Amino acid sequence: MTSRNQQLFEQSQKLIPGGVNSPVRAFRSVGGTPVFFKRGAGAWLWDEDDKAYVDYVGSWGPMVLGHAHPEVIEAVRTAAGDSLSFGAPTARELDMAELVSKLVPSMEQLRLVSSGTEATMSAIRLARGFTGRSKIVKFEGCYHGHADALLVKAGSGLLTFGTPSSAGVPPEVAAHTLTLEYNNIAAVEQLFAEIGNEIACVIVEPVAGNMNLIAPAAGFLEALRAQCTQHGAVLIFDEVMTGFRVALGGAQARYGITPDLTTLGKVIGGGLPVGAFGGRRDIMQCLAPVGPVYQAGTLSGNPVAVAAGMATLKLIQAPGFHAALEASTQRFVQGLANAAKAHDIEFSAQSVGGMFGLYFSAEVPQSYADVMQSDKEAFNRFFHAMLDEGVYLAPSAFEAGFVSAAHGDKEIDLSIAAAEKIFASWKK
Ligand code: PMP
Repeated sequence: MTSRNQQLFEQSQKLIPGGVNSPVRAFRSVGGTPVFFKRGAGAWLWDEDDKAYVDYVGSWGPMVLGHAHPEVIEAVRTAAGDSLSFGAPTARELDMAELVSKLVPSMEQLRLVSSGTEATMSAIRLARGFTGRSKIVKFEGCYHGHADALLVKAGSGLLTFGTPSSAGVPPEVAAHTLTLEYNNIAAVEQLFAEIGNEIACVIVEPVAGNMNLIAPAAGFLEALRAQCTQHGAVLIFDEVMTGFRVALGGAQARYGITPDLTTLGKVIGGGLPVGAFGGRRDIMQCLAPVGPVYQAGTLSGNPVAVAAGMATLKLIQAPGFHAALEASTQRFVQGLANAAKAHDIEFSAQSVGGMFGLYFSAEVPQSYADVMQSDKEAFNRFFHAMLDEGVYLAPSAFEAGFVSAAHGDKEIDLSIAAAEKIFASWKK
């Protein structure tokens, strides 16, 4: 019997390229039919065939409170009743700017946009406008959205398809993007020694989450800060994924490094489209209408999206919120690692705050090259077996996973038990 999931996927492929509106959703990396979801509540999702899953994707990060949190939904209803959009300033945007700037103090000024891609694209333009320089530095396997200049040796869906750079990006554009190995301090120092005065900015995921999860090595973020300061380049922390998730103040609070600009997305909208970029006042003052760097958006600061984000940001400020999130994420990865060890499976795992990485390799990876060494086939088998057991992991070995505050002992124990059963069945 064909399931409704399968029917929907077949139909979708006729009208939507690959049947999806964002590539990784197509399950190309892991094979099989993508799951079409119709409902979520807390840590749980239900697909079109009414099968239930514990969700470890969380819409790729935004759902830090779990799905359909009543207070978030109520805030959205209230805001929607007052009109869906004005295209004019609102008090709600000011509230959000005040709160974000309080939680992430390096963001002295900020501007709201509607996606992470817009935030990073705008931050890059701003850094170039501010410095009058063209070259930008990024790291192999980091993904910063799909703006042309950033689709060079990028992570996420591009790794899934084995094409870290996209067609359609003119070589002249890509030529201004220099890519270095993540966590390689010597390479950063060497590049700056050679052409430091040509570099507009360094953009980095302070915890990389788009080539599975790679934590920053000791001294790496410090070295970026020091080199950018010394050579007058702008340091951009892309905290679209890590913001409000690895700590209330993001990775910059967790590691104690102050970037010049920060980009935010995902959690800041609580599941609706909000992004933000901001930082040093002197840099932000280069933006139109006060400065010469143009940036705009019809739906920027959208009142309904901002209401969802504000409700989310209010709830995650509860005392102990991030400590509890970190503890459950750790319990989950530790449980999986123990299960693998008990059955002699080559596997490792780590977490940073509410995000995690699972690797079918003996050691936790440090770079893109390390991640590429992990056993992708084992991951794909594991992914499908977990899916059958009702545990929804990211459908690619190159994505970080996410836990929400709604994941209680019950959900985590059930997920560990599923992994235990799978690993036991793998034993020769
Ligand atoms: N930066 C990072 C670090 C991301 O993880 C993502 C999305 N996964 C983006 C930027 C792009 O955000 P969006 O998909 O909202 O455009």
